[in-house]
Amino acid sequence: MAKQLGFLVDTEKCIGCFSCEMACKNEYQTEVKPRWRRVYQLREASLPYPERNFISLACHHCADPACLKVCPVGAYSKREDGIVLHDHARCIGCRLCTMACPYGAPQYNEKERRVEKCNLCYQKIDRNEEPACVAACPVGALQLIRDLNSFPEPSTVKELPGFPDITITRPSIRFVPPRAGVQMRRDV
Ligand code: SF4
Ligand code: SF4
Repeated sequence: MAKQLGFLVDTEKCIGCFSCEMACKNEYQTEVKPRWRRVYQLREASLPYPERNFISLACHHCADPACLKVCPVGAYSKREDGIVLHDHARCIGCRLCTMACPYGAPQYNEKERRVEKCNLCYQKIDRNEEPACVAACPVGALQLIRDLNSFPEPSTVKELPGFPDITITRPSIRFVPPRAGVQMRRDV
């Protein structure tokens, strides 16, 4: 089975500090928008007190990427380690990938009239370093999974309530779910 890198997001550890999102922006000097990585607060409507759970999401480098299938100019490619790359120079800004991706990962840059997204810091991966977001997390809530095929799953889940149907693209992400109950992204 081919190797597949992925992200582990621990909702019990994440403190919503945005360090991962800021580290991504700093690494690639991106504009205020798009946001390749985004931190969301989770909500639990039935709890009588304010909840304190967050998740940090970016491209999921899916096993079966919808973005790659619809791009008319071949701007997307999938590496042997599973990273889904987007070639910014090749992109013509047609936005088909933004419509095909269930997770809103590819985002349109109005200024450049092209789409862009997380490339999982592949240059760092090639140097055996961690992605900028993972390295910046002060509490270990965001981790790199070197190969999902050999990742132990008992304490983790493949999706959270409100997460789009994972059978469409098979996203390469695992979550440590919140203990308090069924919590969803505030914006879902
Ligand atoms: S999350 Fe979206 S952009 Fe990323 S690989 Fe999957 S389908 Fe493509
Ligand atoms: S850096 Fe870590 S703790 Fe802070 S928002 Fe990102 S994942 Fe959560």
